Amino acid sequence: MSYHALARKYRPATFDAMVGQEHVTRTLRAALRRDKLAHAYLFSGPRGCGKTTVARLLAKALNCTGGVKDEPCGACEACAAVAAGSSLDVLEIDAASHTGVDNVRELRDMAQYTPSPGASRVFIIDEVHMLSKGAFNALLKILEEPPARVFFFFATTEPVKIPRTILSRCQRFDFRLLTRDELSARLTSIAAAEGVQLEPGALRLIVAQAEGSMRDALSILDQVLAASPERIDEQAVVDLFGLVRSEVAIELNEAVMARDPGRALRLADRVAAGGQSLDDFAHSLVDNFRHLLLLRIDPSLAAGISLPEDQIEILRRQAAHFAPQDLLALLDRASRGFERIHRSGQPRVLLEALLVELVLLESRVVLSDLVRRLEALTGSPLTGGGGPPAGRATGATKPAAAATPPVARAAPRDASAAGNPPAPRQHGASQVRDAAVSAAATTVDGWTAFVETLLGRQPALGSCIMEGIPAEEDGRIALSFPVEKQFQLQLIQKDLPRLQELARELLGRDIVLNLVSGAEADRRERREELRRAVAPTEHEALQRACGGDATLENLVRRLDAEVVPEADRDGWHTAPDRGGAAKRED
Ligand SMILES: [Zn+2]
Repeated sequence: MSYHALARKYRPATFDAMVGQEHVTRTLRAALRRDKLAHAYLFSGPRGCGKTTVARLLAKALNCTGGVKDEPCGACEACAAVAAGSSLDVLEIDAASHTGVDNVRELRDMAQYTPSPGASRVFIIDEVHMLSKGAFNALLKILEEPPARVFFFFATTEPVKIPRTILSRCQRFDFRLLTRDELSARLTSIAAAEGVQLEPGALRLIVAQAEGSMRDALSILDQVLAASPERIDEQAVVDLFGLVRSEVAIELNEAVMARDPGRALRLADRVAAGGQSLDDFAHSLVDNFRHLLLLRIDPSLAAGISLPEDQIEILRRQAAHFAPQDLLALLDRASRGFERIHRSGQPRVLLEALLVELVLLESRVVLSDLVRRLEALTGSPLTGGGGPPAGRATGATKPAAAATPPVARAAPRDASAAGNPPAPRQHGASQVRDAAVSAAATTVDGWTAFVETLLGRQPALGSCIMEGIPAEEDGRIALSFPVEKQFQLQLIQKDLPRLQELARELLGRDIVLNLVSGAEADRRERREELRRAVAPTEHEALQRACGGDATLENLVRRLDAEVVPEADRDGWHTAPDRGGAAKRED
C-alpha cells in the first residue's frame, strides 16, 4: 500500500483550505486579484509544508475559467486538468530527477510557445537547487526576458544552493514549519472525516513525530491507519515509529538537568530497541545542545532553529536551566562524541559513554545554582569586578594549572597546607618554557587583561573571544578563528558593536575578526597554545584548571578552594619529591 493516500485525498483545493503560510498566500492572492503576479517566484522552506501546493493553486488560479481571480474554482476544465496533471499549459518538473541541461533547453523551447488562448503557461520546478550549472544558465536566459503569460514557480529546501543571478530575478517567500496546533487541528478533522477514533496521546505523538511537516503528519497517519483502521491509540504509534526525536531531546535534557545517568541510559536503550540509528541519535544530541545554546544566549536566535515554534518554547524553558558555558561544554562533548560514534564499529558502547559524560558534566548547573544561592545569601555578585577578589594568593593556582591536562574537580585545599600554600608544581621543561616565552612576546599587549575584563563583564562573549588568536595588524587587532570555531565567531559577530566599544576603551584599538584555515590557523594556534601552556595568565591558569567552567572558577575563588589536577593528586601521594623538582624552577 502506498502511504500517500491521505495527502492526495486531502490536498487543499483552495487557498482558504491551506493550513498555515498565511503570510505567503495573503500576498500572492493580492497579486492575483490585481493581475500583478511576477514572472518568477521562489518558495523556500522545509519539506512538506505547502510549497508545491501553493504553486499548483497559483497555476490553477491563473488558468481557471470560473470562480474569482484569487481562488481557483476547482470545477472548471482548466482546474481539473491541473489537478490531474494533464494540463498542456502547466508543466511540473522535479529537478531532483531532471538535472540535465537538455530538460531546460526543452523547457526554454516550450516557454516560447504561446499558451492556449486566455491561459498562462506555468512551470513548477521542485527542488530547483538540484539543477546543473548548465541548466541554471539556460534558465537564466529565459528569466532575463520572460515571454508574456509565462510564470515560474520554484520550490526548494536549500535556497543557498541557488545561484545569485537566479535569486535576483525571483520574488522569494519563505515557508515555515507548521505549529503543533495547526497540525493537530488538521489531523483531527481528517480523522473525523475518515470516521476513525484518534486518541489524544496518539495525536500528540504523530504531531511530534511530524516535526512541523504536514506531509509527514499525513504519511504517519496513513501508516497508523493501515495498522489500526478504527481506533488509533498511543501504543499503535509507538509500535510503528519508536520514540519521537523531539521527545527524545526533551527527555535527554531532563535527564541532564536531573543529573540522572540512568535515565539517559534508559533513553538510549529505548532508542536502540525502537530500531533507530544510534548515529542519528548521537547527531540529534549535537543539534539539541546547539538549539539550547542559541536559545540561552539570545532568544531571537530561534529563527535559526528549524523546529516548530511551540517545540522551541519547550526548549527555551529548558535552556534557562543551563549556563551558556555549560551548554558550550555540552555541545563540544556531544559533537566530539558524535564524530567518534559515527566512525566506530561499537556505536552503542560509545554512545552510552557519551551520555554518562554529558549527564555528569551537568554538575556545573548545580554549581551555578549554588553560586546563585551564595549570591542571594551574601547579596553580592560572584561574577562582577572582572578579576579575582583582592587578596587571593596568586601563586597557589597558577602553577597547578600550568601542569598536566586538568580535570574539572575542585578539591578543598589540603588541610595540612592551610596557611602554608603548597609549593608550586611545575612539569614543563625549561627549554619549552624559553621557546614559549619568546613566542608569547609576539602576542598583543594587554590582550589577556582585556579578555579577563570581558570575562568578568560578559562571560559568554568572553569565553567565545578566548577561542580566537590575536595579532597586531595595521594598528588594529586581528582576531583569527580556525574554521572549526566558526560558531563562536558567529556568536561574537552578533555582539560586535559592544565588543568594539570595549576594545576601544581598554585597548585603544579596533578588533577585526578573521576566519582562517589550514596551516595559518595551525601556526597561530600552536604559538598561542605554547604561550598558554607555559606562560598562562592567572585567569587562563584557573580557567584551565576548571576545564573552562566559569561557574566553577567563581566558586573556587569564592570558597578559596584549589583545583588539583587529577594526575597531580595521584602524583602527590606516590611521588612526594615532585615539590623538590618544582623548587628548582624558582
Ligand atoms: Zn477553475
